[in-house]
Parts: sequence; C-alpha cells; structure tokens
Amino acid sequence: MKKSSFHFCIILTFFLSASQVLSQNTKVDKPNFIIIFTDDQGYGDLGTFGHPTIKTPNIDQMATEGQKWTSFYVAANVCTPSRSAILTGRLPVRTGMYSNTRRVLFPDSGGGLPAYENTIATLLKGSGYATAAIGKWHLGHLPQFLPTSHGFDSYFGIPYSNDMDRVNDITAKEAFDNSKIEYFNVPLMRNTEIIERPTDQNTITKRYAAEAVKFIAENKDKPFFLYLAHSLPHVPLFASGDFKGKSERGLYGDVIEEIDWSVGEILNTLKANGLDQNTYVIFTSDNGPWLVYNEQSGSAGSLYGGKGTSYEGGVRVPTVIWGPGNVKPGVISKMGSTLDLLPTITTLAGAKMPQDRVYDGFDLSPVFRGEEGTPRDEMFYYHGDRLFAVRKGAFKLYFYSNNPAGYPAKVEKLEKLTLFNLGHDPSERFDLANLHPEMVANLTKIAKQHSEKMVFGPTQLEKRIESPTQ
Ligand code: MG
Repeated sequence: MKKSSFHFCIILTFFLSASQVLSQNTKVDKPNFIIIFTDDQGYGDLGTFGHPTIKTPNIDQMATEGQKWTSFYVAANVCTPSRSAILTGRLPVRTGMYSNTRRVLFPDSGGGLPAYENTIATLLKGSGYATAAIGKWHLGHLPQFLPTSHGFDSYFGIPYSNDMDRVNDITAKEAFDNSKIEYFNVPLMRNTEIIERPTDQNTITKRYAAEAVKFIAENKDKPFFLYLAHSLPHVPLFASGDFKGKSERGLYGDVIEEIDWSVGEILNTLKANGLDQNTYVIFTSDNGPWLVYNEQSGSAGSLYGGKGTSYEGGVRVPTVIWGPGNVKPGVISKMGSTLDLLPTITTLAGAKMPQDRVYDGFDLSPVFRGEEGTPRDEMFYYHGDRLFAVRKGAFKLYFYSNNPAGYPAKVEKLEKLTLFNLGHDPSERFDLANLHPEMVANLTKIAKQHSEKMVFGPTQLEKRIESPTQ
C-alpha cells in the first residue's frame, strides 16, 4: 500500500470510529419528555399567571427558569377531543374524536382513539424510548383504545372523567358540593386491569406523583416519555390530608397546590438523577375552567368564557415549558398549541414525522431555543364539527356564538361575524368587524380554504356498548 493510501485509511478509520461514538452519544443523549396535563384548570389558576391566592411555587419557578407561554391553545374546549389532539398532533375532526351531541366519551361509549392514529408515544417508541401514561386517559376505556394499545409501555390511572359512574341515589348538588369518593364509582386501572373501584380520589394526585417518580428513576439510563394527565381539578374536587383546608383559595386551591407539589417532586427526581439538563417538562391544561361549578371551578383570569366554549377562556391554557440549557427563558406571546407538541417532540428526539397523513401542528423547537420567527400564525377553533372561529396573527373572527359559561351550550351561527384584536383586547370586549372589513374578508377566506381541504374522520364518540365496563 502506498504511504498516502495508508494515511487515507487511517484517517477514514478515525472518522468512522468518531462517527460511531457520536451516534452512540446521540442515542444516549436523546432528551426525555414529560407532559403534565391538568384537567379543567383555567388560564388564571397559577401564581405565575396572576392568581392572587393560589400558591404554585414549583410551577412558578419552572416559568422563571423556562418559558411562560401566554397564547397557547388546546384544539378543543372539552376533555376527549382536547386529549386526542395533544397526543396525535391532529385536529379532532380528522381523527373522529368529535361529536356535536356526545362531546366526550362516557362509560357506555363503545368508541375511542382509532388504532390507525399515531400518538407521541407510538412515534417515540419507534426511536427506543420508554413510555408511560399516568392519570386520566379519556380516549376510550375498552382494551383496544387504552394507552397500552397506543404506544405506552404502561398505564396507571382512571380511564375517563372522575365525575363519571356517579351513583344513582345521590343528587348532583350533594355529589359535587360535599364530594365523597363513594359517590363516584370510577375505576382505577393498571395497564388493562381494574385494580380499585371506586378510586380513592383523596390520594390520587399523590399516587400519580409516586408513579411518575418511580418511572423516571427506573428509566434514568434510557430516553423516556412520560404523559402525566392529572384527573383534577375537574370536579368533584379531592385533596389529600396534607393539602385539604390549607389554601386561601379553598378546596380548588388545595387541589392546585397539591398538583404543584407533585410537579416539585418530579423536578427534584430529575435533578437527583442528573436528568434535569436533558429533559423537557411541559405543563399545560386540557381546557378552560368549568364555570358552572361556581367556587369549585377555576378562573380564566382576564379571558372571556370557559370550558365548553371556544372563546379564549375555554381554549387558551396556562402553559410552561421547562428545559434548563435547552429552553431559553422568557415570556412567549407567540401562538402555540398542544397540536404542536407531537412535531416538536418528534424533531427534538430525532424521530421522523410520518408522511402518510395530515398533521395540524408546527415544530416549536426554534422558539424553545429562543430563535426569531413564529412557526404558528393561525389557529382554527372547532366546536364539535363546526369551525367556530379562526385566528390569524392578533385577529380572531367568529362564525358562531355560544353561552360564555359553556353550559347549557347555545351554539348559534352568527348573522353578522364578530372580530377581535387579541393583542389589544385579550378579553374580547370590543368587536372590530365594522372597523376592519378587510380583515373579516381575509379571515373568512382563510377559513374557507381550510374547510374546503378538511377531510372529516367518522365520529368515534357516538358509538355505544351495550353495558358499561363493570
Ligand atoms: Mg377537561
């Protein structure tokens, strides 16, 4: 062999080994992801989002060290469709997780998230991630729809809302004003088995935290994805003895402060295992506050409307993104959505986005890093199968109206469309349609183009089984 060829071989061998080491390191260094998803927590229900009496020091610290997103949306104003969207990155109308009559799944529902849909867990699992779902699922309680059929290695939690399976001889007023665990015969599941019924909801937040801490510690040496969907502060409200009666805000505040404590447990576990520099933690809520429950419901802060509406208070949720060294601290008023988490996480994990279907999310990772630009400039607000409103930039145009309290719903097509500038007027008080006819025309066109291309999946929410799971 000539001397130059010999040198070339040596150099080539060096580069090959270096690239092998690099690829091994890349594998080891794949980031972890934790999504903490609360239920019916309002935009105003965190210290860092301005609540005067609820104390949330752990989440507030996450916001100081990471990013507080002030214009972050869910894709639906009630549980089931919102949950389908955060996990699939697709609008509920595409995945069939919508209905105008049965807006969420119930214990007698026979449908759920179709097997065809990819979740974040399905995609990360293909890249070697350990995956766990803890908490409320609400995407189908039959075995073929449970988390273990959608990319999660394990599941611990309640399969639908904590107010379901209410016993017959208790009035709703009694059940919610003076809640007892025996009033709600909700099952607690591990994987596909019921392990407790009724679920002891007094200790549920604590037990979710313990499961989360265990999962993190057990998987500290490989990349993981944890989806922790708290069943609270959805009514009925429950808190453990350590928190009950402690908050200035009453029982609702006790519940949020216990959730905040559980966030602290998770962050401490990440730090204790040296994982805090390689883990993204995303805290958000599935929809706005359930206003008809008065003191037992949360607050949308300065926003109009609540759960069950596509006004800002129903769909804009308090969101914090934390990732020391990876997320540039700041307050982000750019638009983001739970729809964006699947493409963002997929990108950060180095996994591939499937090319065989339409996704409705954008990769927000440049914003996490503090780069200029706005990946998302539009938001489409659906109420069941109806396109209720559309936002582009600061402007939001409504095609329908509703009861701002959400319940009873009173969805009506508007004769005259209404337009709001959410930059100047986040509380949606001043209709600008007459002042900006060009903006009304532009947003109407955007909505029309979107609707013309939309392919609706068949609804999964109206299917029934003959008898609920017992
Ligand atoms: Mg909810």
